[in-house]
Amino acid sequence: MTVKVAINGYGTIGKRVADAVSVQEDMEIIGVAKTRPNFEAFMAKKKGYDVFAPEDRIKGMEKANLEVEGSIDDMLERADVIVDCTPGGIGEKNKPIYEKAGVKAIWQGGEDHELAGCSFNAQSNYEEALGRDFVRVVSCNTTGLCRVIKPLDDEFGVNKARVTLMRRAADPADIKKGPINAIVPNPIKLPSHHGPDVKTVLPDIDIATTAVKLPTTLMHLHTINMELNSECTAEEVEALLAKQSRVRFVGQGITSTAEVMEMARDMNRPRSDMWENCVWNESITIYEGELYFFQGIHQESDVIPENVDAIRAVMEVEKDGTKSVAKTNKAMGI
Ligand code: NAD
Repeated sequence: MTVKVAINGYGTIGKRVADAVSVQEDMEIIGVAKTRPNFEAFMAKKKGYDVFAPEDRIKGMEKANLEVEGSIDDMLERADVIVDCTPGGIGEKNKPIYEKAGVKAIWQGGEDHELAGCSFNAQSNYEEALGRDFVRVVSCNTTGLCRVIKPLDDEFGVNKARVTLMRRAADPADIKKGPINAIVPNPIKLPSHHGPDVKTVLPDIDIATTAVKLPTTLMHLHTINMELNSECTAEEVEALLAKQSRVRFVGQGITSTAEVMEMARDMNRPRSDMWENCVWNESITIYEGELYFFQGIHQESDVIPENVDAIRAVMEVEKDGTKSVAKTNKAMGI
């Protein structure tokens, strides 16, 4: 069976999900929906994607000489599953449309857990999403945290996790957000929402987080501190993380997120994406019985393979999460 996938919202995440789906053997893109006839819409067309638009936007698109296949309802008629990549808070308004069309939906981390009732990270809770009508792929930061907390918890038991998130202020193409010359505690009221978000996937983890925004567009950086239940060495933690397919060790002169992004460019990754968590293995330390390490998270791309796995899970074309992750990784080149 080839799963027919539609994308609603072809921005930072939507265009990447479309390209990642296109390289999988068991799924295809049947259309992407845009609200404006901007360069991304024309680029989607050039790549061969059928472009759809909300009914009231079609005329405007055609006036700008962008050929539109039809409305979002028309797109839903052709789809088995829709990946909603509209800005946070917009996606929830689309739920009744998807329900009415009888199409399964996958939302992103900008929406609340309650909207889908299942928050997803492939290596943490793939089975929970099997056959569901609605799933939410958690945010870039939450994805990055689940990817390391889950295996550490399985192997050593995580007694508690305390994480400081240094967040990029905006995506590279975003000219509206900031700061451009300040460090902003955000939120000031602690702890931040990221800890509870991890618990939507891994409910039994004791985790608390703090977050600041920094004037950079190049990745988030996490400082992770954990108390583990069983005694272990830094080498054992390193060996465990080395086995995780979506964790990449960085070193060899990489001392910043800027150099991680340069490496992604050197790897000829599409859009210089870094789909894996980038852990500085040299930073992995056990100090006074507690684990510490740094990881970089490429906010624009780490959730992309997770969306592909979420499609397989809701469509039940692969019931084994490990196999889905392997298929996704192979097709994308992870
Ligand atoms: P974006 O602004 O880059 O893209 C959103 C797209 O949706 C744009 O193409 C926009 O034109 C379109 N759109 C706007 N209003 C719409 C509407 N009413 N109906 C349909 N389409 C509409 O946003 P993004 O960064 O791709 O974020 C999408 C989702 O992914 C959000 O939930 C966000 O929280 C989540 N997310 C973003 C990042 C990131 O770093 N950018 C990382 C992980 C998760």
